[in-house]
Amino acid sequence: MQLKVVKFGGSSLADAEHFRQVAKIIKEDPARRFVVPSAPGKRSKDDTKVTDMLYRCYEMIKAKEDIEEYFELICKRYNEIIADLGINFNIDGELTYVKNAMLHSSGRDFAASRGEYLNGLILAKYLGFDFIDAENVILFKENGTFDDEKTNEILSEELKKHEHAVIPGFYGVMPNGTIKTFSRGGSDITGSIVARAAGADLYENWTDVSGFMMADPRIVENPCAIDTITYRELRELSYMGATVLHEDAIFPVRIAGIPINIKNTNAPEDRGTMIVPCAKDYDSKKVITGIAGKRGFTAITIEKDMMNSEVGFGRKVLEVFEDNEVSFEHLPSGIDTMCVIVQTSVIEEKQEKILNSLTRAVKPDTINVDNGLALLAVVGRGMVKAKGTAARIVSAVSAADVNIRMIDQGSSELNVIIGVDEKELESALKAIYAEFVK
Ligand code: ASP
Repeated sequence: MQLKVVKFGGSSLADAEHFRQVAKIIKEDPARRFVVPSAPGKRSKDDTKVTDMLYRCYEMIKAKEDIEEYFELICKRYNEIIADLGINFNIDGELTYVKNAMLHSSGRDFAASRGEYLNGLILAKYLGFDFIDAENVILFKENGTFDDEKTNEILSEELKKHEHAVIPGFYGVMPNGTIKTFSRGGSDITGSIVARAAGADLYENWTDVSGFMMADPRIVENPCAIDTITYRELRELSYMGATVLHEDAIFPVRIAGIPINIKNTNAPEDRGTMIVPCAKDYDSKKVITGIAGKRGFTAITIEKDMMNSEVGFGRKVLEVFEDNEVSFEHLPSGIDTMCVIVQTSVIEEKQEKILNSLTRAVKPDTINVDNGLALLAVVGRGMVKAKGTAARIVSAVSAADVNIRMIDQGSSELNVIIGVDEKELESALKAIYAEFVK
């Protein structure tokens, strides 16, 4: 029989009505055996996520403010869900424990993690599933990084003991027993870890949109949804700022070759987006899979005559960045020029020092620093087969009267990256979308 791991985001578990919808989805398919919930999200635009309320409590305690009244709001959210679902479950003892632990300096991550923990308890009770506390099965290493192999070993053993279980997302435990969370949106990662450990056939990630869009809907009106996308394409788009799934959620399922299906809790019949290890097929009318863009880059262009014949030139340049603990994002180069693209926020304070070191290290003819650069990634596995994609991108952008400051085609032919002025990011993105998606 098939096995599916299902993760539900905060908006899918924001109130009792959503809990009912989630239970309906789970019960509809017996393969949906392991469930990873987030903390309750926003019920309306102006609402506050429980995770943010917990962070706020932590800050209040640090500032020696009284949390009594504010913490009561958190209790109210959980108690409202329980009452409205009509389950016989008293969570007050847990809530009091959480409050006291927070008051006795149990840490910021502990505070934040309780959003998922408490929601997991309620969901397990409502579904009649076992509850597996993530603190027993999701392990971090001494240095704070996730311990994938040890976790996989322990978690797979644990899952074998349960027919159905709820495993709260977002957190795990350090070797010394303290709670540690992933970065924000980290329940996606837990879902992926559980899918790998369970040897699932599919990881369903339920959210409030029907999958990935080909472009940011805040820029392109009503963009088409992406049907199928490969892990690698997704990685390129997520890196460039396309959200929906946490960037790190790809790795655990990728190791195991498990596909991810992004689904909409509020429209479960929609197909959503399938994220797959590899795909031969693509819609020949859609050479590209998606477009994403990000602001905040700086290009440092180093020019020197006969650079191409100077052995070790590139290494010396990169060594300067390494010594200053700056990682580079892209490296487009010409015969006598080398351009290092970095995030502006990372380099800002170190810029002068880096420029001086570069001058000493490679004695360039000129060095130019260009701030205010936005990068746009046009991604698609169809580009390998289609001729003239780069030409179409360039003409579309120039027809929109946008100046291209850099162009870089990945050797995998999976993406073309272009750099434009930050102010022109939206015009460029719209122009490329209109060219490829008609
Ligand atoms: N509740 C956490 C957050 O708001 C984790 C998650 O929802 O995935 O970031």
